[in-house]
Amino acid sequence: MTIPDLTARGAGVAPGLPVSDPGLPVSAPGLPTSAAEPPTTAAPGAGSLPQLQPPGFSPESARQDIPILHRTVNGHPLVWLDNGATTQKPRQVIEALGAFYGTANSNIHRGAHTMAREATQMYEAGRAAVAGFLGAGSPDDIVFVRGTTEAINLVAQSWGRANLGPGDDILVAVLEHHSDIVPWQLIAKETRARVVPIPLTPEGAIDQDAYADLLSSRTQLVAVSHASNVLGTVPPVKEMTALAHRYGAKVLVDGAQAVAHFPVDVTDLDADFYAFSGHKLFAPTGIGALYAKPEILESMGPWQGGGNMIESVDFTRTTFAPVPHLLEAGTGHISGVVGLLAALNWFTSFDRNSVAAYETSLMTYAQQALSTVPGLDVLGSAPERIAVLTFTLAGHDPAGIADWLDRDGIAIRAGHHCAQPALAHYGLESAARASLALYNTSEEVDQLVASLRRLQEAPETAG
Ligand code: PLP
Repeated sequence: MTIPDLTARGAGVAPGLPVSDPGLPVSAPGLPTSAAEPPTTAAPGAGSLPQLQPPGFSPESARQDIPILHRTVNGHPLVWLDNGATTQKPRQVIEALGAFYGTANSNIHRGAHTMAREATQMYEAGRAAVAGFLGAGSPDDIVFVRGTTEAINLVAQSWGRANLGPGDDILVAVLEHHSDIVPWQLIAKETRARVVPIPLTPEGAIDQDAYADLLSSRTQLVAVSHASNVLGTVPPVKEMTALAHRYGAKVLVDGAQAVAHFPVDVTDLDADFYAFSGHKLFAPTGIGALYAKPEILESMGPWQGGGNMIESVDFTRTTFAPVPHLLEAGTGHISGVVGLLAALNWFTSFDRNSVAAYETSLMTYAQQALSTVPGLDVLGSAPERIAVLTFTLAGHDPAGIADWLDRDGIAIRAGHHCAQPALAHYGLESAARASLALYNTSEEVDQLVASLRRLQEAPETAG
């Protein structure tokens, strides 16, 4: 059987599948269709900044694939700096979704017909692609979930319920997203375990001395992000994992903000669990993946019941399917997996190390450019970080800053970023955040800085 390849980079759809009318929003009424170039004027005061040296990667090669980046917002070319919230989608992903629903839609694992078999093969090809992307040993180590949040809840409810008890510790870094705090609080309450925060240094790194002191034979789990969504910090996850393992603790790594920014290898990290969300990786919303070591996955019991996760059901005795299907009750997000596969094909067609080097140079450029804005303070200065720049601007609340920038077509996020303990570390309840991706440019950073400078010059007009 031949699986329709809905995802090839450049093709976007399989041979024989319709390529026209992918339903791109760029042609929708009210949305611009022209590929307007952003102004190239550098921000005032940014003239002395070093020129960005793209090392082997051009953001244009990514931008040309992403239709939405060519729309306008409030009369200005869109500058999308809200990648930490979600990333924009290449046409290869958009077209793969259209092609799936246009020509290949079927439920999986269920029908005794050609299309059910084809859809099942596409779904399982997606699982294999995720395994390869993460450096997992086998596709069977991958569970499809809605996203990082669901992955962590799954681990808490399945592994946590079976392995946590009174007196056990769950160490959770203070920089974690709420989705890597609250599921642990919920299961800790039920099992009478404790959630213990791992403090941060003033720079926003995880305090490694404090971490070493907190680890003990009581520690059952360490939950840590591979990259912070608010401080950009990239903790030394491999070293932290090795240390946790000396105490027999398992390590869950929240990769939501990492996977789109630098290569990840769960085998090298020796992570027990690794979670990510497709929508932060150029794929659709509602699909993500959990990696778990095979021996741990094998030991996990069901957390939701329903179709797909059973072998046979009887009112006296129900038997279960093997993992990973055991943990995937109900009809999965099949088109989401097709979109994720397309996104992985697209993203991995770039040299990942060059992308990471480009983003690092763009971040350095942005840090220097932002430092020219009077009254602007960037949170966090950990030595290893991704291009997430959370900041405050004297005299302006974060919502007002976001509103002002929006008028210039610049999308950032303002608020608590679902990381209230990390902000509280700096005595803040909210902040503004610009988060960059491979398709952002130094010209866009210049536009951000120029707009912020205008805001400082006209404070009375800010919201
Ligand atoms: N973890 C981190 C570090 C995040 O940044 C996010 C989302 O912003 C999440 C977890 C939750 O991701 P999702 O809402 O896709 O489940």
